[in-house]
Amino acid sequence: MINHIKHQLQRVKACGADYADARYFPVEETEHIAYVQGNLKTCYRARTTGVGVRVLYKGAWGFAAASTLDSLPALFDRALDNAKVAAQRVTFPARLAAQQPVKASYESPCAVDPFEASTAEKIAFLKRIDGKLEDKTVAQRFTHLDFMKRQMLFFNTEGAEIEKKIHEVFASMKVVGIEKDGLSQERSHDLCGSGQGTRGWESLQTAALFEDHAPRIIGELARLLAAPACPQDKRSVILLPGIMFLQTHEVIGHPLELDRILGYELSYAGGSFVRLEDFGSLQYGSEKLTVRADATLPNSPGSFGYDDDGTPCRNTVLIDKGILKNAITSRHTIVEANTKAGREIFTEPGGCARASGFNRVPLERMTNINIDPGDDGLLDDIVKKTERGIILDGTRSWSIGSNREQFHFACEIGWLVEDGAVKGVVKNPTYGSATLPFWRSLSAVGSDDTCELAYVPNCGKGQPNQTMELGHRVPVCRFDNVQIGK
Ligand SMILES: [Zn+2]
Repeated sequence: MINHIKHQLQRVKACGADYADARYFPVEETEHIAYVQGNLKTCYRARTTGVGVRVLYKGAWGFAAASTLDSLPALFDRALDNAKVAAQRVTFPARLAAQQPVKASYESPCAVDPFEASTAEKIAFLKRIDGKLEDKTVAQRFTHLDFMKRQMLFFNTEGAEIEKKIHEVFASMKVVGIEKDGLSQERSHDLCGSGQGTRGWESLQTAALFEDHAPRIIGELARLLAAPACPQDKRSVILLPGIMFLQTHEVIGHPLELDRILGYELSYAGGSFVRLEDFGSLQYGSEKLTVRADATLPNSPGSFGYDDDGTPCRNTVLIDKGILKNAITSRHTIVEANTKAGREIFTEPGGCARASGFNRVPLERMTNINIDPGDDGLLDDIVKKTERGIILDGTRSWSIGSNREQFHFACEIGWLVEDGAVKGVVKNPTYGSATLPFWRSLSAVGSDDTCELAYVPNCGKGQPNQTMELGHRVPVCRFDNVQIGK
């Protein structure tokens, strides 16, 4: 099979293609199990195989994919024909930035393949967690497990040969309570990590990562059900990693995807308020804000060795001490952006081109979009130096401007802070702001000990839609003078 694919790549090159690549998935397996209220709600397992072929011809891309591998020449011809048709209409010819072809392999760290554990074991695990969530204050209990296993082989006409084997494990649990007036409150916990260690079936057996949080979320739900509503006020907001990851995702990650900045996602995912002339000078946040796209973390859904352009994973500073420096990029978009800007903003491809499967084209996707820890200590240290604030955690709803120029988030729980001390819990907490004033008001960044790596299994983008996994390692952060409760 591999020799056939390599032969076809050379054949389309001989037929006039400037570049071509193929991603062969010998196997991709997914499993989803959901347990609700003591009952198995969903349990399915899927297995696919296929090849996706991308051809660049006279500045236009053509793509074709097939799950049957018995007619590779026809598949490659279709990709080339698609590129030829597109080339008749291209307005800005696509070109690829130089990339030394890599021959390499990558394997995500996994001790026990979750697909080797039986479905019965997995259901028993969820049943045990579900039992821990039973309580008189809990009206509904939800738990779920998701597993993914992928083997991918990448080849291109430049000579790259990359093999990747990736395992993913996602888990979450949620408790819902009903107030006297019939409205609901909820508290949840998702499996998260540090970026180190392994992430196979064994990661779920580490009780401190997941199941030990069950009594905590039940206790917090009980306090929410007796809590007053979040006041309407302007205060400091102290974001715990359970909401800070979404803040980073929606209002730094998405607006810094270079395809969005170039307008490629306008019809679906949206655009970006960031302009090419902003790189190198825009004060995105306060001096305490340093942000990276770091796909080199050893263990994260946003680490994958080599992207679908064949570029090695990088650790790129996006925002350095508040100043915008770089974006989430691929081989194609940096050439277009530099050409349109008339200067070399981006010196190398960022290694962020990823496709969600063999039948999708690579797009700019977040890797691990992380905030560097700061020197403001632990949560307690930050609270002690906060006069009037609110600590926020958990995600309930989010609404973001299509160019990410403003946002409004609702959280699961808030704790008011007065004169450097935590006061009571408030329910239905919300906050919102224009994007740049918010990041510029960042006044405290917690130490490395406050960081958590949130696993995101479901970032959506692209037409047809692609659901992608990634990570955010973020500390506790405080922002000042933010509107809450509206
Ligand atoms: Zn997203």
